[in-house]
Amino acid sequence: MRAQPKASHFIAGTWTEDQAGARFDSVFPATGEVVAQLHAATPEVVERAVNAAVAAQKDWAARPPVERGRVLRRAADIIRARNHELSVLETLDTGKPLQETLVADAASGADALEYFGGFAATVTGQTIALGQDMAYTLREPLGVCVGIGAWNYPMQIVCWKAAPALAFGNAMVFKPSELTPLSALALAEILQEAGLPDGVFNVVQGMGDVGAALVRDPRVAKVSLTGSVPTGRKVYAAAAEGIKSATMELGGKSPLIIFEDADLDNAVGAAMLANFYSAGQICSNGTRVFVHHRVKAAFLDKLAARTEAVTMGDPLDEATQIGPMVSERQMAQVLGYIEQGKAEGARMVCGGKREGTTGCFVQPTLFADVTDQMVIAREEIFGPVMAVLDFEDEADVIARANDTEYGLAAGVFTRDISRAHRVVAQLEAGTCWINAYNLTPVEMPFGGVKASGVGRENGHAALEHYTRIKSVYLGLGDVESPY
Ligand code: NDP
Repeated sequence: MRAQPKASHFIAGTWTEDQAGARFDSVFPATGEVVAQLHAATPEVVERAVNAAVAAQKDWAARPPVERGRVLRRAADIIRARNHELSVLETLDTGKPLQETLVADAASGADALEYFGGFAATVTGQTIALGQDMAYTLREPLGVCVGIGAWNYPMQIVCWKAAPALAFGNAMVFKPSELTPLSALALAEILQEAGLPDGVFNVVQGMGDVGAALVRDPRVAKVSLTGSVPTGRKVYAAAAEGIKSATMELGGKSPLIIFEDADLDNAVGAAMLANFYSAGQICSNGTRVFVHHRVKAAFLDKLAARTEAVTMGDPLDEATQIGPMVSERQMAQVLGYIEQGKAEGARMVCGGKREGTTGCFVQPTLFADVTDQMVIAREEIFGPVMAVLDFEDEADVIARANDTEYGLAAGVFTRDISRAHRVVAQLEAGTCWINAYNLTPVEMPFGGVKASGVGRENGHAALEHYTRIKSVYLGLGDVESPY
C-alpha cells in the first residue's frame, strides 16, 4: 500500500522537495507498513514557504470576499466528491477506521470550507456616531498565519485552521504532525484546483523545530496550534515573545456526568463515543465518567456488554469499529497507563491488553471504582481507556469535575432540564454537551479554558481570531487645536 505524495512540501503552488531535510516515514499503524517517505523542511524550505505566503497575502486580501469564499466552497465540493479517496488516505496515515474517516474527517473539513466560504462575504465593520464627527471600523486580515497540527484529526485540523484564515484574507503556512503528513498536502492540491492563488496556502513538513522556526519568523502574525499542553506552553510563549496572536487547542481530561435519571442506553452510547472513537485519540474525550451510584451497576453492565461486542481490526474494513493507536509510542504510553490503573487499584471491567502482536492495537478498556487522585483520572491518556467514578451529590460532582488543570469539554446526561443547565453553567469547560457528546459542528465555537487552550475555532467566534479591527476616526469639522 502506497500513498506517496508527489513531494514533501507544497509551496507557492508547487510541489517542493529538499532531500537535505531529515527523512521520515508515514506508517500505516495497523500493519507497520511504510506508506510514504518524506523529508523534513530545511531552514531554506521554511524560508521559501514564508516568502511565498508574504508575497501572496496582500493580493488575496484585496480580492472581493465573495470571490475568496467561492474558492473555498469549490474546494469543499471537490473534497466531498473525493471523500472516499481522502478517507482512505486518512485511514492509512492515522490508522483510524474507514467507518469513521468516511463520515468524520474530510467531511468535517468540507463543512469548514463551505461555512467560512459563505461567511467571508458577510463580514462588516461598524459605524460609530460621534456627534459632529464619526468613526468606522474595518475588519482586516492578520497577514501570514501559521497552523500546526496534531496527528489525530489531520484533515479536520488543517481545514479548521485554513478555512477561516483564508476566508478572511490571510495566507497560511501549515505544518502537520510528522506522524500524519499526507492530508494537508492533499488539501493544498485541492485548494489549487479550486482556484486558490499560488502561495496563499503552503504546507511544510517536519518536527517541532520546523514549527518553532515558523512561529519565530517575524513576518508571521499569528499561530494556531492543535497539540498537547506542554507544546502549547512552548508555542504560546514563542508567540508572546513576538507579540503575535495565538489560538491554542490543547489537551483535556473532560468529565462526563451521568445522573440517576439519565436515559442509560444513550448515556452508555455517549460514554463509548467519548472514549473509544478514534481509539480514544480525541482531545475533547470525556475520560472521567462520573456515574450516580444508584445507576452505576446497570450502567456498567450495559457498558461492558456493548464494549465487549465492538469489532476491532483492519481499519480499511468498513465493518471495523476500532482501529490501532497512531504509533507504537502512543500504544506503549496507553498500555503504561493501563498498568498504572491496575497498580493503583482501579477495577478492570474489560479490555486492558494489547490486541494481537502486529499493529498498534489496544483493547477498549474499562476501569470502574476509579478515584479522583488516581493517575488514570488525572492525566490525559489519549487512548481507549475509560475511567468510571461514582458520585452521589450534584454539588460534589461539579467540584470534582472542575478539579483539574484542564477545561476543554464536559458532558451531562439527565432528563431534568433545569439540572442540565444549572450544572453546565458551573462546569469549567469551553465546550459542553447536554445529552450528547463530542459533536463538533462547524457552526459551534470549539475550544478550551484553563490549560486546555486559548481562543476558539469554528462558528462566528473564529472571526475574532483571524482578523483584527482597524478604527478610523473621521473628522468632519474644523480641527480644534490649542496651538
Ligand atoms: P504535540 O503537542 O506533540 O504536537 C503538536 C504539533 O506541534 C506537532 O505538529 C508537533 O510537531 C508540533 N510541535 C512540537 N513542538 C513544537 C514547538 N516547540 N514549536 C512548534 N511546534 C511544535 O501533540 P500531538 O501531535 O502528540 O497530539 C496529541 C495532543 O494534541 C493531545 O494532547 C491532544 O489532547 C491534543 N489535541 C488537542 C485538540 C484540541 O483541539 N484541543 C485536538 C486534537 C489533539 P511533531 O509532533 O511533528 O514533532
